[in-house]
Amino acid sequence: MSESAVLKLICANQGSIRVAELEANGCFDDVRRIISNREKFVCCRSGGEQKVVAKTELRLCKAKVCQGCNNLHLCRKFLLGSCPFSQSSGCQFSHHLTSDHNMKMLGQHGLQDLDRTELCMLLLQNDNFLLPPICFHYNNGGGPFGWCQDGDSCTKLHICEKHLQGYCQCHRAHDFHDPQPLKTLQARGVPSWLFGFLKTVYINKRVLRSHDDDLQQHLQTFSTGDTRAAANYPDDFDFGIMNISTKNQLKSDNYPWYKTQGGNCSSYSKSQFKGTF
Ligand SMILES: [Zn+2]
Ligand SMILES: [Zn+2]
Ligand SMILES: [Zn+2]
Ligand SMILES: [Zn+2]
Repeated sequence: MSESAVLKLICANQGSIRVAELEANGCFDDVRRIISNREKFVCCRSGGEQKVVAKTELRLCKAKVCQGCNNLHLCRKFLLGSCPFSQSSGCQFSHHLTSDHNMKMLGQHGLQDLDRTELCMLLLQNDNFLLPPICFHYNNGGGPFGWCQDGDSCTKLHICEKHLQGYCQCHRAHDFHDPQPLKTLQARGVPSWLFGFLKTVYINKRVLRSHDDDLQQHLQTFSTGDTRAAANYPDDFDFGIMNISTKNQLKSDNYPWYKTQGGNCSSYSKSQFKGTF
């Protein structure tokens, strides 16, 4: 089983899959080696089982006229299902997933084997441009809108985060078809066929976000030599299955935050990592 086959299988399964299911589809060692690539896969625990979530650094280009970039040149509505305009009747974005530029970008990220729906599921959970964020203030405090000052006109999603993580019976909205979430999603052009997948997409988004936070904290911890904090890493942050190339990626330019945290990570050295993994 190749890496692109694993990625395709995960994306066809709404962007995440149980590791046991992956192993049933391929050789145990191959699967473990492939999903240890932290550029493309993030492992977590869900309901006592190990799950793997698909990750990518590829994003949609937001420019109507782009002078050249390394993002995908594709109409957002076209990616999400259908664009009401053809390119001859007004849409200023490309409807050609297989243009030379896009094939080059997809190839660079190992996504050339995904069809449009699989790519859509992958980008939905990775590219924050595609879906509205969940309103933090709505989820905190009492009253019908929590701390949110904008009430029903808030452009963030008024949906219960606890419900997304499991069963909840609070007064907050638990259904993407409730008036505020429906209006917010429609305003962002999210088609109704995607609504049934949104719970999984937002759960996956949360896993990917917390992975980035954990990784950042980890680098900072080892840069300061605080081994007590290092002992507190969650089960899902499993460095044990990292391979050498993945370890090397930690210090590569692939993590933009690594650069932005230059001050905090300045004392990071190869030997500190060597002794840790
Ligand atoms: Zn561009
Ligand atoms: Zn379009
Ligand atoms: Zn709000
Ligand atoms: Zn709730």
